[in-house]
Amino acid sequence: MNLTITDVRLTPILVADPPLLNTQGVHQPYTPRLIVEVETADGVVGVGETYGDTKYLELARPFAERLHGRQVSDLNGLFTVADEVAVDAARISGQVDVGGLRGVQTADKLRLSVVSGFEVACLDALGKALGLPVHTLLGGKVRDSVEFSAYLFYKWAAHPAGAPAEADDWGAALDPAGVVAQARRFKDRYGFTSFKLKGGVFPPDEEIAAVRALAEAFPGHPLRLDPNGAWSVETSLKVAKELGDVLEYLEDPALGTPAMAAVAAGTDVPLATNMCVTTFGEIREAFTRGAVQVVLSDHHYWGGLRNTRELAAVCRTFGVGVSMHSNTHLGISLAAMTHVAATVPDLHHACDSHYPWQSEDVLTERLTFDAGRVTVSDKPGLGVELDHERLRRLHRRWLDDDGTLRDRDDAAAMRVAEPGWTTPAVPRW
Ligand SMILES: [Mg+2]
Repeated sequence: MNLTITDVRLTPILVADPPLLNTQGVHQPYTPRLIVEVETADGVVGVGETYGDTKYLELARPFAERLHGRQVSDLNGLFTVADEVAVDAARISGQVDVGGLRGVQTADKLRLSVVSGFEVACLDALGKALGLPVHTLLGGKVRDSVEFSAYLFYKWAAHPAGAPAEADDWGAALDPAGVVAQARRFKDRYGFTSFKLKGGVFPPDEEIAAVRALAEAFPGHPLRLDPNGAWSVETSLKVAKELGDVLEYLEDPALGTPAMAAVAAGTDVPLATNMCVTTFGEIREAFTRGAVQVVLSDHHYWGGLRNTRELAAVCRTFGVGVSMHSNTHLGISLAAMTHVAATVPDLHHACDSHYPWQSEDVLTERLTFDAGRVTVSDKPGLGVELDHERLRRLHRRWLDDDGTLRDRDDAAAMRVAEPGWTTPAVPRW
């Protein structure tokens, strides 16, 4: 068996995305993703997926070049490659202080997000070469299926007129009745029993009413509200008080660890985050201050599936819960999320996934939700197969774009409908 990497292919694509609203604006008609293929000397191909914006591509390209001749089993070596690429990137851009690039957490996350795409591809290839599923390479599954939550969004019926976009049949959801109708459809179609509403879009009273309506329509179902840090500490505490009896947790009500700690000190409602704990370096302060009770992991920006397991171990040590965050993603990432989630012992909350919102994929067969769960594949690797024709079509869309959609910008998408729109200052309410 020869595990030497002989070819790496990077394919940036644009994927149709419905007009989902958040505190920054609205999703663009198409969102960029990057598909990674790693091929071994034996002709085994592993696939990975990560963010596809230009800044990720600029790091992924030199990263891919450095993988030639390495082993797909050398997963720790990917972090060495990431360090080398960061130094190169700084030199290329003329920066003298490479420490700045390493020191800034967003730059760190950028590199880890690139690492994750390659790590997943290498694990897929290694699993295929060995005839073992990815969860086995991670130590083995502790459950046969992984529960996901319905990810509810305030939403327009369509993207603004004039924008090139794919139609969707979900309709608008701009008030409590619309949110409940959307939730019902999620439940009927996919069997989800746990609901998360993306908030920070309307004044808090309207979002409180929407969650109340969900609680009445689906009694006893776990509910979550995530305004992405749009509220002040005072507003967060008001919402926590009004919804405390129905919320499983409140997600990032206020921005940053100090504000989250202040909220946590004033309520018994658990706080979850994918904003104030996004790197290992942010854990100490947040955990010692009791700012968060649930960390939403994301293998993309935490640096892969093995780092996700390390994060889960740290959370376990501190008695902090763990669940999973999601950005717009396709089936490769859903498969990766499912494999790693299957290996985390104390996963007590349903994971988030945007997947039902994506009508397009690059796989020959879409993954499915049954009773709100994805079955853990026991096939070699991730257990998914790339559809090269679909990949080509979505890459063609990326090639044809004039550059305006190659970088996700929800505020720019909002300006198409509201010309004066700028990203709101935080706290917004
Ligand atoms: Mg969130």
